[in-house]
Amino acid sequence: MPTPHEAARPGPSLSGTLADTMRLVLVGGGHAHLIVLEALAKRREATLDVTLVTPSRWQYYSGMLPGWIMGRYGDDDCRVDLRPLASRAGVHMILDRVTAMNADRNLLCLGDGRHLEYDLLSLDTGSETNVEWLASLSDRLLTVKPVEQFCELWRKVYNQLTALRSSRIVVVGGGAAGAELSIAMKTALSAAERKCAVTLVTGNSGLLSGHNPMVRRRMQSALEAAGIRVRRERAAGVENGVVLPSGELVRADFVIAATGARPSAFLAQSRLGLSDNGFVAVDSFHRSVSHRNVFAAGDVSARLDDATTRSGIHAVRAGPILAHNLIAAAEDRPLRPYRPRRRSLYLLVSGPDKAILSWGGLGAAGGWVWRWKDRIDRNFIKRFRQG
Ligand SMILES: Cc1cc2nc3c(=O)[nH]c(=O)nc-3n(C[C@H](O)[C@H](O)[C@H](O)COP(=O)(O)OP(=O)(O)OC[C@H]3O[C@@H](n4cnc5c(N)ncnc54)[C@H](O)[C@@H]3O)c2cc1C
Repeated sequence: MPTPHEAARPGPSLSGTLADTMRLVLVGGGHAHLIVLEALAKRREATLDVTLVTPSRWQYYSGMLPGWIMGRYGDDDCRVDLRPLASRAGVHMILDRVTAMNADRNLLCLGDGRHLEYDLLSLDTGSETNVEWLASLSDRLLTVKPVEQFCELWRKVYNQLTALRSSRIVVVGGGAAGAELSIAMKTALSAAERKCAVTLVTGNSGLLSGHNPMVRRRMQSALEAAGIRVRRERAAGVENGVVLPSGELVRADFVIAATGARPSAFLAQSRLGLSDNGFVAVDSFHRSVSHRNVFAAGDVSARLDDATTRSGIHAVRAGPILAHNLIAAAEDRPLRPYRPRRRSLYLLVSGPDKAILSWGGLGAAGGWVWRWKDRIDRNFIKRFRQG
């Protein structure tokens, strides 16, 4: 992998310099960039020469992942095809990933070794799963991010598990993703009439620590009803499972990591100003605090004012502002701040056709919450399909 320094040497460049156009590169097809592509399709900017770099033509909608695992959705129900979206927006698409960048030289390095120059850059590459203490599990470990890779692996794991008479899964991570995935996997294997012991290890902060007590209680009951064992401890990976602080070994055929987010490796040497935990430090306009021609939204970004948490909601809601600001920055017009709402609505899968609503101090549960979530999620996908 070339380092940013190597990237700075002359090399095959994918974009030429056009005197009166500005080269905007979008890295990652994440939630915010879906909205940027939509905006560019509505209003083609003649002065912008736009390129999207994405490792896959498919952008998965993570909120529908539990439903996909439970067989409620097919592949195409919960993913967006970036190709028609880019084409409608007049955006050139490169199927690759950024492996290094040098923000001082406006240069990106791609997986195949080519270099890409930009005048204006927007990052929406999400985050990776933090698995430092689970690494010794090697091929028994599945990380929930990147989602497209997880989907591919889960298909194989599901086939392996259904070939066994009984199996064991450990899910690590006490957030919404860990709880939802535990329930979804247990449901999928029960539907295939397979016995599977699922254990959810939440870490010391317990289940759904960012949510109100009512929601936490409801999710705890949903997990119990599904026959999932919840351990409020920190797990360390070993060859055949996870070990708890007491020394107890919880054996597992597979361990699913839905642990905290960590930044992509290419950011560390990018010369961009980063937050303490290594994400791109941005202001309320989602502009890099160190490089005025770089913007970032979604999980890859860290607001200096701490106004957002890492969640799809903020990636989606920041999208229209990001779209505005990229065009405004190109035209030297004023930028707009993204002002997140004080409370965010979360609809969490708690069983087959069941979900829990979490909104500030409020909580509710039932089939209607699932139906509501289903409608919102399907409409989100439909929005980017229709053009
Ligand atoms: C099971 C599950 C359920 C969830 N449910 C919810 C929910 O209900 N509500 C909610 O708000 N949040 C939810 N989340 C969190 C949510 O998934 C993330 O916060 C959200 O996906 C972040 O969006 P993003 O646009 O930052 O990045 P992503 O959606 O992760 O997209 C990033 C894109 O960038 C691409 N990429 C990555 N690296 C590179 C690179 N180097 N070069 C080029 N492209 C790259 C990836 O392939 C990907 O397509 C859930 C997460 C999981 C795992």
